[in-house]
Amino acid sequence: MIIVMKPGATEEHIGAVVQRLAGVDSEAHISTGQLRTVIGAIGDRGRIQQIPWGAMSGVERAVPVLKPYKFVSREFQPEDTVIKVRSAQLGGGVFAPIAGPCAVESRDQLFRTAEAVRNAGATILRGDAFKPRTSPFSFQGLAEDGLQLLAEAREEFDLPFVAEVLDPRDVEMISGYADILRIGTRNMANFGLLSEVGRVHKPVMLKRGFTATVDEWLNAAEYIYKEGNHEVIMVERGIRTFETSTRNTLDISAAPVVKTMSHLPVIIDPSHSSGRRHLVAPLARAALAVGADGFIIDVHPDPEAALVDGDQAILPHEFAELMEQMKALAAALQVTI
Ligand code: PEP
Ligand code: MN
Repeated sequence: MIIVMKPGATEEHIGAVVQRLAGVDSEAHISTGQLRTVIGAIGDRGRIQQIPWGAMSGVERAVPVLKPYKFVSREFQPEDTVIKVRSAQLGGGVFAPIAGPCAVESRDQLFRTAEAVRNAGATILRGDAFKPRTSPFSFQGLAEDGLQLLAEAREEFDLPFVAEVLDPRDVEMISGYADILRIGTRNMANFGLLSEVGRVHKPVMLKRGFTATVDEWLNAAEYIYKEGNHEVIMVERGIRTFETSTRNTLDISAAPVVKTMSHLPVIIDPSHSSGRRHLVAPLARAALAVGADGFIIDVHPDPEAALVDGDQAILPHEFAELMEQMKALAAALQVTI
């Protein structure tokens, strides 16, 4: 059961709910969002249901939820979560094109890419300063210097940016720069990191673990939501299967599946799923067609010289061509892009 408090509910109202739950030997998991507090009630369902929740001051409604993930489920919130970041929007019938370099390598590389993707219609810039690399000897990112460059690019091109956070100890520092934090596929089940980003007031993109089921992925989102951060964006980025013609297999059905099960926005990453430049555009078009809320694409002005993921980066002019196709497709599907 989830107890949704009214926007103006006081500490006393919340305390009274917690006490009533304790009275039926149940636990209260309090999630304090910017707009309202929600309380997950864990215990004997029958006893919790018997409490006349509607009669308690400060309570808006009580919602029965059977799933292990409660706050991110559609039962808990039937209407879509809509996240606004500067002038960009995620969810709520708008398709958000997110693009930029996999990693920030230099000022010139970042600024050339940011200007090109902005001119083509991207609403959010991507670019990482901390890279999760398979080998500890590969380029690991420019760290705080990279975030500084991203912050300058944001002002220059009026583009909010998303950057990956790898370590719970960096969450505070990175949130001081980035507009959106991203949890990578390798960290989807890093529960300490999830709880840490759940305590900051910045939206979080949560990539699907490459071996995770949709249920496990939604449970990971629940860790963030439960801490009070209700602005979570799900990112399908491919899963590991027996297929070797692509880097990972893009589970395109995950977008409509998650949108049925959850109210959170879902976006598609055609770059890290396919790992192949020529597959990015077709998969990006598919993202719009299946009802995803956006895509996130690697763009590089010189992919051959890229320090990370050059094989999958598309050129700025290829991104511009893709965006023209996306606009035509969006018009046909009556989606705002
Ligand atoms: C990325 O987006 O740069 C990235 C490392 O992705 P993933 O975590 O999906 O591999
Ligand atoms: Mn990458």
